[in-house]
Amino acid sequence: QESAQRVLQLLEAVAQMLQANAEKLGDIDAVAGDGDHGIGMERGVLGAVEKAREVAARGAGAGTLLCRAADAWADKAGGTSGALWGVALTALGTALGDQHQPDAQRVASGVRHAQEGIMHFGKAKVGDKTMVDVLVPFADSLNDAVAQGASLTDAWLTAAQVADSAAQATAQLLPKMGRARPLAEKSLGTPDAGAISLAMIVNTVGNLLN
Ligand code: ADP
Ligand code: MG
Ligand code: MG
Repeated sequence: QESAQRVLQLLEAVAQMLQANAEKLGDIDAVAGDGDHGIGMERGVLGAVEKAREVAARGAGAGTLLCRAADAWADKAGGTSGALWGVALTALGTALGDQHQPDAQRVASGVRHAQEGIMHFGKAKVGDKTMVDVLVPFADSLNDAVAQGASLTDAWLTAAQVADSAAQATAQLLPKMGRARPLAEKSLGTPDAGAISLAMIVNTVGNLLN
């Protein structure tokens, strides 16, 4: 299916980007966490791509492909962020479904479902210094732009810029969730690793929608 092939291409691009940035993401996580965020994201996305290729070759739709890739991501990544990415991609895949061409509205609402899934599962709120601090403004911006009639590409690129600023802004926050919490003060001045990787991922996707 065409949209499944498209999602596979996006996953492959994200994998390439995460491989190139794994060391940098690990260094950010090491400031107050355990330093494994880069390797975890890399393992997760490579597992997702492998599974997505297999599922796409069997002619699955985009929604099914994302749900299967999500399970593989969580499986291979290990760690908190791997489980949360699994939840997010499952929610997105379920919302997209296997219809041929998911429209802007459906994608925006899928991103909202992914955000809600992560918050339900991880229990972090805005301000806790996690990926939630990027995901909420990203989902808000995307949904607002789509509601105002923007194309998916324009809405996504606007929201990706919002995600970038939000990721940088986590540097000023003290962590309240996850492994970085016991070393909270050490993390002041450094952004959250999961927030940065999320912003990088939505920017990679946005540049390919162009
Ligand atoms: P681990 O913390 O298990 O080593 P990673 O290093 O891969 O896993 O991921 C750490 C990132 O996961 C953090 O930078 C943060 O963005 C995110 N994170 C941790 N706990 C939560 C949570 N409860 N809710 C949302 N995001 C979280
Ligand atoms: Mg870690
Ligand atoms: Mg870890």
